[in-house]
Amino acid sequence: MGMQPDGREQLRLMCVHAHPDDESSKGAATMARYSHEGVDVLVVTLTDGSRGSVLNPAMDRPEVVDNITAIRAAEMDKARQILGVRQIFMGWVDSGLPEGDPLPPLPEGCFALEPLDVTTEALVREIRRFRPHVMTTYDENGGYPHPDHIMCHTVSMAAFRTAADHEAHPHAGEPWQPLKIYYNAHNRAKYVAFHEAFLAEGRESPYAEWLERWTEEDARTITTRIHCADWFDQRDQALLAHATQIDPDGHFFQVPRDLQVRIWPTEDFEAAVSYVPVEPVEDDLFAGIDDVATGDALATRSGLEVAYDGRVAVSA
Ligand SMILES: [Zn+2]
Repeated sequence: MGMQPDGREQLRLMCVHAHPDDESSKGAATMARYSHEGVDVLVVTLTDGSRGSVLNPAMDRPEVVDNITAIRAAEMDKARQILGVRQIFMGWVDSGLPEGDPLPPLPEGCFALEPLDVTTEALVREIRRFRPHVMTTYDENGGYPHPDHIMCHTVSMAAFRTAADHEAHPHAGEPWQPLKIYYNAHNRAKYVAFHEAFLAEGRESPYAEWLERWTEEDARTITTRIHCADWFDQRDQALLAHATQIDPDGHFFQVPRDLQVRIWPTEDFEAAVSYVPVEPVEDDLFAGIDDVATGDALATRSGLEVAYDGRVAVSA
């Protein structure tokens, strides 16, 4: 890959996710690659996944449904080992995906109803403990409109913004400014490419319906593409470890591996805010951070200024 593992030693990447399994479907091969290169990778899972449905028919049994939280924690541990990363649960309660018209209220005590200052401070404490140089989270739409995914964005951005502010969180550890935060790209172009490849081979595309619902306006700006095809196998194994959540016959596994490697060998990210310059299209989440010493010095320096802001204005 042209990168020396020793230069990576102890650079730190924190990936914030809403539920156990999200880490394996968003950026998993990237994490496996960085871990392989000596980067310390920590997945922060915000909720317990307790309101997730069993999405794999083979696992839809009463004893599974009744013990879903414990089973999902065990699945998470398996996925974590496969990806070679560390992982913590923040312990908030899954908000569930509200369904119906009108939508029912969110359940009492769920993550999306927790006071933002409480959840932010808890995540700041983990940031100050782990001291990531780079963070990842979801875009302002959550990537998909689950209340926990949208709140994952909100809390991550609030924690990124205030982790270096001693006065904002005086009892949550020593200030630390992660140097960049990226969104897992919600990448329409990738599915268009797969769709067209299926059609070119005269096959039925599994993405036709998806793409109809997904308009051009949903397209995002990709700033960073991580070559990680060598880790697609680990990604798939990690996904399958979440056996209650992933149907082995489902859409995740419909694109043959050789086609993926040929057409889209990267996972893609969108820089949101960075204290070091971002020059699209980058091929490294740590671009601009030369080594651990440089990163550590920057992250603890006062008066750092934002060098890149790719955030999209959210309409009220
Ligand atoms: Zn999720």
